[in-house]
Amino acid sequence: MSKGLIGASSVTIFVDFLSSKLEAALHQAVVDQVCIDIANEMRQNCPQLKESKINLEYHLLKDMAEKEDFSRFWDYISIPKYFFQNYIKTCVYNYCRDNKLIKPLSEKRLEELKSIVLTAISKATTTALTSLTNNKNPEESKLSKWLDVFCEELEKCLKLPRNTLTHMEDEEISDMDLLQESLTKALATSVENISKKFASAALVDLRNAKQQPEDSLFTLLSGCWEQCPFCAAICTNSIEGHSGDHSVPFHRPKAVYGGWWYKTDHFVIDICTSLVASDCSIVLSDTHRVPCKQYRKAGPKYERWRILPDDSELKYWKWFVCRFQKELEDKYQRKFEDRGKIPYQWKQIKKTEIFDEL
Ligand SMILES: [Zn+2]
Ligand SMILES: [Zn+2]
Repeated sequence: MSKGLIGASSVTIFVDFLSSKLEAALHQAVVDQVCIDIANEMRQNCPQLKESKINLEYHLLKDMAEKEDFSRFWDYISIPKYFFQNYIKTCVYNYCRDNKLIKPLSEKRLEELKSIVLTAISKATTTALTSLTNNKNPEESKLSKWLDVFCEELEKCLKLPRNTLTHMEDEEISDMDLLQESLTKALATSVENISKKFASAALVDLRNAKQQPEDSLFTLLSGCWEQCPFCAAICTNSIEGHSGDHSVPFHRPKAVYGGWWYKTDHFVIDICTSLVASDCSIVLSDTHRVPCKQYRKAGPKYERWRILPDDSELKYWKWFVCRFQKELEDKYQRKFEDRGKIPYQWKQIKKTEIFDEL
């Protein structure tokens, strides 16, 4: 067999091997990037996901009031972090539901990556040829140099580690132009294969992504999830594990979280901000009470909350208590009676009024 033919078959073996690795890496990079693109697009186009957790929370409060579904309120009050996560997941699902989004996004990314790979092929070939002319280390193969440059060029956008290709670097390839030509052809086929995979791709086809769109959106819209020990309002700080006190601009009637008067089955309808100014006590046990005015001394759940005595309150939660009086009574097995009787004025609040406040 002539030397030329050995060279040509080496190129084929090498190109087959490299392009299969490259195709897998390209596919993964497109999947990862499309997930980022979906999240970014949603941040632009979905008003509820545009800003921060507090903006999303107001949106959710409006949405829940519109739908008047107690089970959603219940999840929001009892498992807020999961509730927000789940809501974002549903948003992503709805946004991608018609399957028209993923194809164009993937095509754009694939095109960009293709051009980056072509540049890398060309740069690697030129460098390998130049190094051949001034080779100070004849032991080092041209192909090894070629692979060094190729992998380095792709490092930022593809996962194609140089050390996974070491066993190929001793292939006897000297015709760099043939290598460039063959690899360019193989790349076109790979791009076609990947493009076909995305032609009717749905969200489920992106499940191997480094990060799902809902996860990156949740990270951006997350924050502190501590809840007020009296009323379960969520701290509005945008940093999870933040220093300093937890706080929230509006507290709620304690009954929302099931609070009741000691030795009765009557709800507490007072709001935390008035409770902390009252002469009431937090009953930790029959023998251990802490005055509400010194609530921070009632244990770890209380000590980091800043609840200032004032009269800020939302009509929203008064409306909620009236609208879901029966559901709350059933859920917590308590009654709105006696000191927990719902004031007449609360029952006059119209739904339109609560929307004005949000
Ligand atoms: Zn509170
Ligand atoms: Zn907090």
